[in-house]
Amino acid sequence: GGQAGNGAGAGRPGYVRVRGAREHNLKNVSLDIPRDALVVFTGVSGSGKSSLAFGTLYAEAQRRYLESVSPYARRLFHQMPVPEVDEIDGLPPAVALQQQRGSPTTRSSVGSVSTLSNSLRMLYSRAGDYPAGQELLYAESFSPNTPEGACPECSGLGRVYAVTEQSLVPDDSLTIRERAVAAWPPAWHGQNLRDILVTLGYDVDTPWRDLPKKDRDWILYTDETPTVPVYAGLTPEETRRALKRKDTPSYQGTFSGARRYVLQTFATTESAAMKKRVARYMVSKECPLCRGKRLRQEALSVTFGGIDIADISRLPLARLHDLLAPYASGKAAADKGRARLHPEQLIVTQRIAEDLVARLDVLLALGLGYLALERSTPTLSPGELQRLRLATQVRSNLFGVVYVLDEPSAGLHPADTEALLAALAQLKASGNSLFVVEHALDVIRCADWIVDVGPAAGEQGGEVLYSGPPQGLERVDASQTRRYLFDDTPIRARTRRAPAGWLRLEGVTRNNLNQLAAEFPLGVLSAVCGVSGSGKSSLVSQVLVELVARELGQGAPAGQVEETDDLEQETALPLEGRIVSGMETIRRMVRVDQKPIGRTPRSNLATYTGLFDQVRKLFAATRMARARKYDAGRFSFNVAKGRCENCAGEGSVMVELLFLPSVYAPCPVCAGARYNAKTLEVTYQDRNIADVLGMTVDAAFDFFAGEALVARSLEVLREVGLGYLRLGQPATELSGGEAQRIKLATELQRTGRGNTLYVLDEPTTGLHPSDVDRLVLQLERLVEAGNTVVVVEHTMRVVAACDWVIDVGPGAGDEGGTVVAAGPPERVARAAGSRSAPYLRPWLP
Ligand code: ADP
Ligand code: ADP
Ligand code: ZN
Ligand code: ZN
Repeated sequence: GGQAGNGAGAGRPGYVRVRGAREHNLKNVSLDIPRDALVVFTGVSGSGKSSLAFGTLYAEAQRRYLESVSPYARRLFHQMPVPEVDEIDGLPPAVALQQQRGSPTTRSSVGSVSTLSNSLRMLYSRAGDYPAGQELLYAESFSPNTPEGACPECSGLGRVYAVTEQSLVPDDSLTIRERAVAAWPPAWHGQNLRDILVTLGYDVDTPWRDLPKKDRDWILYTDETPTVPVYAGLTPEETRRALKRKDTPSYQGTFSGARRYVLQTFATTESAAMKKRVARYMVSKECPLCRGKRLRQEALSVTFGGIDIADISRLPLARLHDLLAPYASGKAAADKGRARLHPEQLIVTQRIAEDLVARLDVLLALGLGYLALERSTPTLSPGELQRLRLATQVRSNLFGVVYVLDEPSAGLHPADTEALLAALAQLKASGNSLFVVEHALDVIRCADWIVDVGPAAGEQGGEVLYSGPPQGLERVDASQTRRYLFDDTPIRARTRRAPAGWLRLEGVTRNNLNQLAAEFPLGVLSAVCGVSGSGKSSLVSQVLVELVARELGQGAPAGQVEETDDLEQETALPLEGRIVSGMETIRRMVRVDQKPIGRTPRSNLATYTGLFDQVRKLFAATRMARARKYDAGRFSFNVAKGRCENCAGEGSVMVELLFLPSVYAPCPVCAGARYNAKTLEVTYQDRNIADVLGMTVDAAFDFFAGEALVARSLEVLREVGLGYLRLGQPATELSGGEAQRIKLATELQRTGRGNTLYVLDEPTTGLHPSDVDRLVLQLERLVEAGNTVVVVEHTMRVVAACDWVIDVGPGAGDEGGTVVAAGPPERVARAAGSRSAPYLRPWLP
């Protein structure tokens, strides 16, 4: 229905004409989308918005671009998926500003992503204040990532890594046989080193601390690598006798001291796991030469405005802007110091400063003034990173391209969203098109054109319900978006629950929080809000979570193990603050975040929720499986027995491309089934295990109706709105919102827990308002079951539905970090000085 399509023949001028799009769940849709306009794609999660905007339009633009580059690239890309679509006309080149879906972290910083650091290096190189007699340095000399710039002591890392006896031998009451030297490799290699020590006559059966210092030092620190005969399996006494008799040894073994082993492995290994393992036995400290500034002394001796380049990179962007502004306007040129400069230098200073200030203006307008250039991008939220890249594009002077964005309002307080809209308007005014997938009503309202996809998710979606100017959507009954766009009723009016107690924190110091006291109500649903950068995550996702985890003796505070093989974890921030009361009733804490449920196609929703264990048992119990002695492990694609060996159960194989990211292609042997032919012969109710993984949750719910345990898991997944997902859909294909709801469902299926603290950071990201309603309902269920739920939240519809609100601010960075107001939503909505209050008020009855 709707206004999709516009007659036959050539495309309308000024429009992108799409015919027969069938990517993922899209149902052969045809539509015309205006260029040079802000086009917003709406629809419930899983309806097919991204499949249309990214999977079809962007993918096709990208493919055409790559094909135009060279026939060579075309050959490389013949395996690249071609979007399922009959025809697209009038499509400009596209730039995607997509949010990361579990992509690996890269070592970049705000300065490198925005390219501001390049300009700053140029400024220091050409217009910095050099000590008398020092030669001018090239711009590269101001980068810690170049040999010219890197501090020679720490190779530009800012930290030096070393080993100590304590770090190599964490428990000195153990003997060498008991693995006192924990840093040594595990398994065979470690045993080999111990056997060598036996040959060399060292005592491996006395506690480490009782060995002579001379022996301890040699074992840990020697750089000698003697090769000696090894008698595997013999006792020290037997070894002595064998040596005396000159018996033939098992083999010749080469010794390596613990320090040598650790440092060499760390420096040379290609395996991230190995590197991570040995890093545990090293201690890091700030580099004494550069004091953590990562640069050579020559570079650090050059200043601008009295500050070296490392310190200037630590300033919040707002302060950097203020520092450079006088130079940009030429007002600082009359400075005593700078009057000595050559006129060319003054011109260069002004030029570079002007450019920097103009680019900083955009970043400040997007509400990012609290970030510093040196901030590493993995510590940014996906929304912050996307806005950073958006700001970079606004100044890139491109025109005639289409920017495809994924929920740019994510992480933005309504007060920040206005700036975002201004940046989008600027891109449009420079002659570009904007295709935006978005859920925030205040952004949707600003659209020139809406493409509403639906009506529901997965199989029940994939149609274009409407394509046209916003007003026309009001008449489309099937649209879920229509209800929220044209009707402002709150989620529902209800009485607020009274707190059952208080979790009180004091002395909280982290990022922009300084000796903050805060209290979280127990047994209710509370929201923490505030502008972006005010300190919500620092308070909730960092300090609250870490303090509670420490009290509970919980190791990893997340709902699942986190994969960080980054050394940056080593320099984890100190935990400053304490819980003064309220822990008595908290037994457990769960973080339900939007991090991927796994980083490889091996994890999927069936494995994560545990329902696949039940399914495998059902297959193992079939007559054929029992006859062939197949156990449940046979039906796992992670175990060698039953899986396809060509792809090791992945269903796909990685194709390495030269200097482009690698791509996955279906496994030629199993055609994506993941299992070997023998395993696939076993069926349960006429379906094999690969068929089951291919079912949607909805289909599986009917299929397994008689199996209470499986059905229970599937029912909860349906309740959180994931009925459209396939059981075997790889974790890498899931959006953050989907991952989060899978975690929530996993929690909800463990019935009757109570006394658990749930912490959710921006749980509504990626969710359509109708999905948000569903989420709130699930959170309410957790509270009703006797738990405490704390959410960091921007969507005021949700904040208004909570029992309690904590407003952090008032501003961002240095201007935030305090609790501005706290209380039931009605009270916070009236609080003076709260930036949230004006946006909260309209949602209250
Ligand atoms: P939306 O953007 O509206 O949330 P998507 O376009 O991401 O929806 O998803 C639409 C449907 O396509 C969903 O059923 C989703 O599970 C499915 N889907 C998404 N990505 C993939 C993929 N890479 N492979 C197969 N199916 C996918
Ligand atoms: P919010 O969650 O309200 O957006 P954050 O707690 O993330 O705010 O940030 C509060 C302040 O702390 C900001 O100035 C931010 O730049 C700073 N900050 C947050 N995380 C880090 C970090 N890992 N390293 C340095 N500064 C940080
Ligand atoms: Zn150094
Ligand atoms: Zn295979």
